[in-house]
Amino acid sequence: MPRDRFGREIDYLRISLIDHCNLRCVYCMPLTGATFLPSADLLAANEIEIVARAAVAVGFRRIRLTGGEPTLRADLIEIVERIARIPALADLALTTNGILLPRLAPALVAAGLRRVNVHCDTLDPERLARVMRLGSFAEIWAGILAAEEAGLTPIKLNAVVVRGYNDADVVALAALTRARDWHVRFIELMPLGVGEPAEVSRQKYVPSAETRAHIETALGPLAALPIVDAADEARNYRLADGRGTIGFISPVSEPYCGTCNRMRLTADGRFHLCLLNDDELDVRAALRRGGEAAVAEVLLAAVLAKPVGHRLSAGHTIEHREMFQLGG
Ligand code: SAM
Ligand code: SF4
Repeated sequence: MPRDRFGREIDYLRISLIDHCNLRCVYCMPLTGATFLPSADLLAANEIEIVARAAVAVGFRRIRLTGGEPTLRADLIEIVERIARIPALADLALTTNGILLPRLAPALVAAGLRRVNVHCDTLDPERLARVMRLGSFAEIWAGILAAEEAGLTPIKLNAVVVRGYNDADVVALAALTRARDWHVRFIELMPLGVGEPAEVSRQKYVPSAETRAHIETALGPLAALPIVDAADEARNYRLADGRGTIGFISPVSEPYCGTCNRMRLTADGRFHLCLLNDDELDVRAALRRGGEAAVAEVLLAAVLAKPVGHRLSAGHTIEHREMFQLGG
């Protein structure tokens, strides 16, 4: 398994397939005026497979497909098929807003996908329309149920907590774990880029401690679960009568850079070394020049160049990428 300069084992690759999205979450994408990569700049399905194979060859074991909205890639099923058949890959998952899952879930399972994380910020249709914009709660909920029915389990729900938008709704989301064995995870806002979403992320930030206190006041104490995977970015809990779990992802209030195991690939073929820094290495040129072996070389260089962590508390800003270009 590749190790970086700080002794961290890096074995998890998050691949952004596309920067387009069918939603416009207030903290991720501006309602109008976002510019997108021309399709000619996106890595093709066979190129994504080559990067995935190179990653597994150097010791990566987990891959997650993300976006933008990965289900907007017309060749998503082919991409999943190509990656799922790589021997020695231990985990292949997808992060999505769920809207297209009723149509895609069975084919994704047949192609070899194991799990999905579905992004749903609130169970309240009006507030969901205000925070996630363009989509509806009914569509996302149908997507979650379709994923569960197709066997893309355990279901993980991701909710970003945004003051004045959905901070009152964390209780109803957490209460889902009483009857269902779902993992509901609350994510702190991170400011990426220089536009309106970054401003929202700064202004409407809610620390996880506050979200947790809110849930405990309404639903009773949360019991901390043992840490099974040191690289899991969530701190996980359970309600006394809970079947599922409740997690808090707190990159701002409790940075977990010390156990980071991730590398990111952008849709236009750059290794992005740390979500909250701008450093990148171009892999597309190497891929087109030298195939899998050249990609492996760039990937190992990328691992060695990974920054020690983010510097948000020192006021550092991420200038060259927005969240929808990196995929969380
Ligand atoms: N469209 C898919 C989705 O929404 O799940 C995949 C891409 S999205 C960028 C991946 C994750 O990033 C989502 O779970 C979303 O909640 C999270 N996210 C987006 N903008 C964020 C921000 N400013 N701070 C924290 N999380 C954010
Ligand atoms: Fe789209 Fe996901 Fe960003 Fe929301 S968080 S705008 S669903 S990419």
